[in-house]
Amino acid sequence: MSDGARYAGAVLTIDLAAVRRNYRSLRSRLGPRVRCAAVVKADAYGLGARYVAPALHAEGCRDFFVAHLEEGLSLRPHLPAAPIYVLNGLPIGGGAECINAGLVPVLNSVAQAEAWSRCARALGRRLPAVIQIDSGMNRLGMTERELSRWVAAGSQFAGIDVQFVMSHLACADARLHAANAMQIAKFQRLAQNFPGSLLSLANSAGVFLGGDFHFDLVRPGSALYGINPLPGQANPMRAVVRLNARVIQIRDIDKGAHVGYGWDFCAEGPLRLATLSIGYADGLHRVLGKNGAVYCDGRALPIVGRVSMDSITIDISELPRDRIVPGSEVEVIGDHQSVDDLAEAMGTIGYEVLTSLGRRFERNYLGATDVSSPEFAGELLS
Ligand SMILES: *Cc1c(COP(=O)(O)O)cnc(C)c1O
Repeated sequence: MSDGARYAGAVLTIDLAAVRRNYRSLRSRLGPRVRCAAVVKADAYGLGARYVAPALHAEGCRDFFVAHLEEGLSLRPHLPAAPIYVLNGLPIGGGAECINAGLVPVLNSVAQAEAWSRCARALGRRLPAVIQIDSGMNRLGMTERELSRWVAAGSQFAGIDVQFVMSHLACADARLHAANAMQIAKFQRLAQNFPGSLLSLANSAGVFLGGDFHFDLVRPGSALYGINPLPGQANPMRAVVRLNARVIQIRDIDKGAHVGYGWDFCAEGPLRLATLSIGYADGLHRVLGKNGAVYCDGRALPIVGRVSMDSITIDISELPRDRIVPGSEVEVIGDHQSVDDLAEAMGTIGYEVLTSLGRRFERNYLGATDVSSPEFAGELLS
């Protein structure tokens, strides 16, 4: 399945079979009664939720998380029959749309719970919701004080059908961080306000913290997309993304010639350069002008000069003379530079690399399975 212009400056390949394998691998770490959800917020971390979510559904996933109500509304047609939970909660005035699309809000405050309860009473039926408890991240979720109000109020929240109670770990990727034990203890204590409810705490890294963190439902996102959930150790996940950029021009420059904006780079000897049709508007941060590289035949080709909005310049002097011609592709993300490697070179994390990937790429989806979606009519891939 291919999406986007044939003449794009770069080709993004998204391996949905690898996403499915990563899902299976995470599920294999869970006990038999633990549900493995999928977080597909921010358009499945930039990879295309309308392709990723149906692939995971085909793999048996039945719980999906988005961040914004709008994301849930866009995803619903591609995922007709599975719960979609809205992590950022019920926006003011969003009740009717949420109900009509069958979305389940994560209630992060008593005000949201009251609004949802009013919707339920107006409709005369119970409405599903997830309760989020703040166990120490101080970002989203009901505080201890709010929870006691909830409990004291009792019938004030009539009509809410609590699907499960969740919280979120702040430091799950640091196994020995004291916050993990503190958060799990606080989560368990505050969850006693909802006797008998199912519980959910772990993100991707939380899955690797062991069974104590799994409870009834885990919520991985990044690991599904190949980001290493164990920083500093070998990545147990399969790579999902490849990004190849196209060469648009080649030139030989003399010693002393300058390259790019600001004349930041000055050649210390004769060089052969290639210009690629990809720049910071496509998610390659400008910092890569200092230390970035792309790859060809396993060889690192340094980025020289500043990163422009739509192009970068690389030094190809070390390659055989005719190895690269206009139209050739070089690797930006792939076997020699993982998403996490590129993130390190950009001074950030893989999450930001993926969610910053530009909208101008040709996108190829391998292993697409969604036969119900109109985009796939007649375009089924193996
Ligand atoms: C984004 C998010 C997740 C997924 O986190 P990963 O680290 O990508 O696995 C899980 N739960 C919540 C509340 C989130 O915001």
